[in-house]
Amino acid sequence: MKTIGVLGGMSWESSLDWYRMANERVRDEAGGYHSAPILLDSLDFAVIEAMQASGDWDGAGDLLAAHARRLEAAGAELIVLCTNTMHRVADRIVAAIDVPFLHIADSTAAAIGAAGLHTVGLLGTAFTMEQDFYRDRLAAHGIATIVPETDDRATVHRIIYDELVHGIVTEESRRRYRDVISRLVDRGIQGVVLGCTEIELLVTSQDSAVPVFPTTALHVAAALDAARDGSPAPLPVRGADQP
Ligand code: GLU
Repeated sequence: MKTIGVLGGMSWESSLDWYRMANERVRDEAGGYHSAPILLDSLDFAVIEAMQASGDWDGAGDLLAAHARRLEAAGAELIVLCTNTMHRVADRIVAAIDVPFLHIADSTAAAIGAAGLHTVGLLGTAFTMEQDFYRDRLAAHGIATIVPETDDRATVHRIIYDELVHGIVTEESRRRYRDVISRLVDRGIQGVVLGCTEIELLVTSQDSAVPVFPTTALHVAAALDAARDGSPAPLPVRGADQP
């Protein structure tokens, strides 16, 4: 099995889950004493958060690219980035490394496609919901996204940064997310993407009338498949206008 280089710490609460899920999956599948071969580079989220807030995406891209290169130099044979938001700078990371990079939206798109769906709700940080990078990546796989209305986007974003990245999980916030999802269902979504790696700490399929697509769990599964096969199979990219 190939060694997976993990860019984590954004936040560490969800990276912990990524790491735990990867090891549990290998244990369950391979048995015995097997666990996942991982190199983890966990960044200081305060540095990243400040760059997000000031819109310094180029600086953040350079920083993550340097960390990705460091993982490659240490022996990582494929690289994953454990945050949806920072895929805003995925191109800079890809340009900096010679090993494959497994984009989190591609593993999500594969699961949505396998479920036969084409229109999904997208929950995530304001950056993920409001900028184009994530929705365009899903659209390239033929998947249309609907994001919550303004007030609901603010609620979803606030709960991520004020609570979930600090490991705070409350019933009140779960109820708020349920309400947001239900308003998206009324607007015609067939499924909902938990497009922030911390949302899985709060929301499960029980909180939604439509299938949920948990990006952390899907990313882990895809990374392990790629590590086993040696090279991640590139997903076919379809035009957004194709069914
Ligand atoms: N982990 C989150 C995500 O998946 C948000 C934290 C961050 O901005 O990186 O988008």
